Amino acid sequence: MKNIYNMTIEELEDYFLSIEEKKFKAIQTYSWLYEKRIKSFDEMSDMKKTVIEKLKNTFSLDRLKLIKVERDTLVNKYLFELYDGSLVESVLMRHDYGTSICVSSQVGCNMGCKFCESGRLKKVRNLNTYEMVLQIFAVEEDIKERITHVVIMGIGEPFDNYDNIIKFIEIINNPRGIELGSRHITISTCGIVPKIDEFSTIPFQVNLAISLHAPNNEIRNKLMPINKVYPLEKLIPAIKRYISKTNRRVTFEYIMLDKVNDTEKCAYELCDLLRGLNCYINLIPYNETNNFEYKRSKKGTILKFYDIIKSRGLNVTIRREFGSKISAACGQLRSKKEDV
Ligand code: SAH
Repeated sequence: MKNIYNMTIEELEDYFLSIEEKKFKAIQTYSWLYEKRIKSFDEMSDMKKTVIEKLKNTFSLDRLKLIKVERDTLVNKYLFELYDGSLVESVLMRHDYGTSICVSSQVGCNMGCKFCESGRLKKVRNLNTYEMVLQIFAVEEDIKERITHVVIMGIGEPFDNYDNIIKFIEIINNPRGIELGSRHITISTCGIVPKIDEFSTIPFQVNLAISLHAPNNEIRNKLMPINKVYPLEKLIPAIKRYISKTNRRVTFEYIMLDKVNDTEKCAYELCDLLRGLNCYINLIPYNETNNFEYKRSKKGTILKFYDIIKSRGLNVTIRREFGSKISAACGQLRSKKEDV
């Protein structure tokens, strides 16, 4: 049986037409699902019994199984078990501007970034759209409030699960769905070039973040295997095309790894690489994990790196840290059973 949270409004309209019902029933159904958050189709009091029966026979309303929540001051981490026993995590963060959720997009990840915990388990499968939508439902139900921002930066490479991600964005952005403004949605990729081009054609103003992490191919090749397929001379022009097509500013994420990518030379090289692009650079103090030898750059080194970029006139920020106490920080999310 298909989970109904996998369905866009258009798909539901087609469904209702296929059972010879009016297509506005899709909008009605969405309101039961996303506003009233029903747990059973029987609650749909304005729907004919015969239609309810058909819905029941076609779709499930099953939510995700939440098996663990860890709470810190401004962060909660949620562990879910999926229908096939796979595990994924989501993270809730409280900011002064609202609450955001970091959503996972795959079970495991095949990108193999050398510093990232999430990739220690190779990709088992893509998450279905409903499995991403329901991460939001579960977190909202737990905190009893609506979240205001979504970042697709949890476990997985979203552009390696492109179609499901686009449907997910469509559902959460839809005013009759979760109704999140597209500028409140951010997707982060390690740099899959053809998908960046495809992404520039979608009709949503979603923010794009690129995990750059190095100012040249030599360093990036060592950190991120994807760079061998899409090196900087392919990645940067793709981002330029994206910016000129969408007029949107891109974020570059740059984790600061001690003595790997944090020298002054790297800072100058990074400025040369990104000069003239409508972008900003987000420096991320590396979250150390037990499984990799990389160390976080010293505080002074990060500040110096920041100053150099700033003095060259580029937009730069140092990411505020969240959730390292409960291993809920970037790159610490896991799908591995042994770690739970
Ligand atoms: N696959 C996507 C999204 C998931 S990772 C991507 O690569 O963008 C989200 C971000 O966390 C990426 O920028 C990733 O490089 C970064 N990250 C991974 N491990 C980290 C760690 N240990 N400390 C800080 N950031 C990390």
